[in-house]
Amino acid sequence: MAQIRIKNVAKRFGAYQALHSINLDVADQEFMVLLGASGCGKTTLLRIIAGLETPSEGEVWIGDRRVDHLAPRDRGIAMVFQNYAVFPHLTVFENIAFGLRMAKMDNALVTKRVERTAELMHIEQLLKRYSGELSGGQRQRVAVARALAMEPDVILMDEPLSNLDALLRLEMRAELKGVLAESKTTAIYVTHDQVEAMSLADRISVMHQGRIVQAASPIEVYRNPAARFVASFIGNPPMNFLPATSHGNGQWSVAGQTFNGPATQKPLEFAIRPEDLSPADQGLKATARVVEPLGAHLLVTCDVEGASFRAVLDSDLTVRPGDILTLAPQPDRIRWFDPETTQAVA
Ligand code: ATP
Repeated sequence: MAQIRIKNVAKRFGAYQALHSINLDVADQEFMVLLGASGCGKTTLLRIIAGLETPSEGEVWIGDRRVDHLAPRDRGIAMVFQNYAVFPHLTVFENIAFGLRMAKMDNALVTKRVERTAELMHIEQLLKRYSGELSGGQRQRVAVARALAMEPDVILMDEPLSNLDALLRLEMRAELKGVLAESKTTAIYVTHDQVEAMSLADRISVMHQGRIVQAASPIEVYRNPAARFVASFIGNPPMNFLPATSHGNGQWSVAGQTFNGPATQKPLEFAIRPEDLSPADQGLKATARVVEPLGAHLLVTCDVEGASFRAVLDSDLTVRPGDILTLAPQPDRIRWFDPETTQAVA
């Protein structure tokens, strides 16, 4: 069993606090994605798990072993980085075999492992080629194959697809998901790309300024963001926010319209995703500013009482800049945030 437990892990670089008391459990065979903007601390956390960085405080456990004092090679992990170090002067076979040779594995067993992993990554026809002759996507497969060949308990990946072009990224993403599920490896994957995170993860840990703001399934993070940061970070275009004032009895005034909401009296923010709005007789009055026909839908950036507000509408609608739209939010998709704490309010 290779569950990972991170207990109160903090990291300081001199006076700079890169991680604040991180607590996170990753289940055996779970695919966990660490998602956040540049500088939020995801790589630092991954490097601490790998043993490439020492935590200032806290513990890291893999299975029933505390590993934070162990050398990286004794932790039962394999890593794939963005700048995957595939050796150009070695064949694909020898690249995949690299770690196994280092571990002095028997030759026959090495061949078996390499062939099996190459098959899993669909590169069995490339085994005799030199890695310097490969395309970016093929090299990426070799890097993942080399990590998987070690049959690690845990695989750690730091933006492994970011050097690939958009189409290849999409293809590799789907493949990686399949391969990891098949190999039954526990995985932690770092990315700043929310679509990649949504697509791959069993659970996403959204990080912000050295903290985990929410750790939940992709759909939960999307539908029920625990904090305003998550609501604005996940989703493209992001969630809309408008100030709301209470009438009491759970009735709220938002841009001149009345909505049902939480029972509290303090001012809140009303939030709705652009795709949860549709034209109706009653709703928020919005002046269209920019209309972008994106094929699958129409993205309209509007103005609602001076606030910028986006709606994703049916591509068959005709909307022109200057048009006044009446947009009805889908009632069960409305969310509320406390502007003071920035946390979601039930
Ligand atoms: P990116 O997506 O840009 O890689 P990240 O979320 O992975 O960002 P980290 O690399 O973990 O971020 O860095 C977190 C913070 O810690 C950053 O502000 C970074 O400048 C700082 N930091 C990281 N490593 C060091 C170091 N060795 N010395 C000093 N500061 C560091």
